[in-house]
Amino acid sequence: MTTEEAKQAAIAVLRWHAEMGVDETVATEPADFFSWRGPVPNPEKPPAAKRAAQQTATPASVISADDAPMPADEAVAAAKSAAAACATPEALAEAVAGFDGCPLKAGARNTVFADGVYGANLLILGEAPGRNEDRLGKPFVGRAGQLLDKMLAAIDRSRETNALISNVIFWRPPGNRTPTAIETAICRPFVDRLIELTAPKVIMLAGGAPLQAMLGVSGIMRSRGVWKEIRVGDLEPIATMPLFHPAFLLRQPEQKRLAWDDLLAVEARLTDD
Ligand code: URA
Repeated sequence: MTTEEAKQAAIAVLRWHAEMGVDETVATEPADFFSWRGPVPNPEKPPAAKRAAQQTATPASVISADDAPMPADEAVAAAKSAAAACATPEALAEAVAGFDGCPLKAGARNTVFADGVYGANLLILGEAPGRNEDRLGKPFVGRAGQLLDKMLAAIDRSRETNALISNVIFWRPPGNRTPTAIETAICRPFVDRLIELTAPKVIMLAGGAPLQAMLGVSGIMRSRGVWKEIRVGDLEPIATMPLFHPAFLLRQPEQKRLAWDDLLAVEARLTDD
């Protein structure tokens, strides 16, 4: 094989991987999952000291319960006390970035906390960072984010001037899988503290995951467009509006009509005094 042929073959293999969804290099050594017959392996778990020194992220696909930084109840308690200690949203952003209790952090490049105006009367909560958000450390920066920005613009809102955008999970789940109940519970104290510190008038819950995380309700189809109140800390009850996630609207544009109704309801509520 000539050098050029070898190069083209390597490019073809990389393209195939990208098409199959393998779009991140997260480990120094490949793991052969085709020959694996047992539980999810942890092929290169180095001693704790070496692990601490290693900057390379743990391969997202091989994070196991064994790798969890601490038991779930301890992690939730640690998140609660770290969140409670923050007096400003900026301090909270730093606390989240420094928090090691969520297993998702090990497979993520960046912590994705929030983007927009702290103290804006509209807070949008999405599900979790995707690939683009993980790379840039900002929520909703991919195609779904562009649509979200357009939806906000339709009601005279933007992350630059009068809206705050965040997620109920602050680290990208491997392969964009749905976050688990434990991961959601570990992040929740930080989400609650963000709400307490910024006191929005309305919270838009974009999609089923934030609906479930914040209200304990499943079924965005049934719940969208229906106001529900949420109590957080000592704040007065806050109005929440569940609506379709922009990624869903990209796949099913015919549902934009319903999302438009929901956005108009949000606008009316925001300007009703
Ligand atoms: N989808 C989400 O729910 N959140 C993001 O930040 C990006 C995409």
